[in-house]
Amino acid sequence: MARSRDRDFLFCDFCGTMLTLSSVKFAKCPLCNFKRSTKDIAGREIKYRVTAQDVRRELGMSTFEEGELKLATISRKCEKCGNDEFEYTRKQMRSADEGQTTFLTCTKCRDTITEN
Ligand SMILES: [Zn+2]
Ligand SMILES: [Zn+2]
Repeated sequence: MARSRDRDFLFCDFCGTMLTLSSVKFAKCPLCNFKRSTKDIAGREIKYRVTAQDVRRELGMSTFEEGELKLATISRKCEKCGNDEFEYTRKQMRSADEGQTTFLTCTKCRDTITEN
């Protein structure tokens, strides 16, 4: 994944090395001595501050699978095979605002119906 442009201000324009704070006024590249004003950095940090939700989303995408919970079987007539039992599963989508999706899977032919 390409590094977000939002965070480039923390890195050297020339060699990409992470800048170190060498004084109150400047952050400096340890390799090529490129300097950036700390005023500039402070301003951008405020502008690009990430929310807790952004962090959760980022973590969720890289380290966790979507939560899946098998709840029960319910009585429902399958249009494909005539079976009358479905597995009832709820799946939490990655972002909270998408909510949960309900999956009904026929225990016989595995035909799946989704409901939001
Ligand atoms: Zn550099
Ligand atoms: Zn079926």
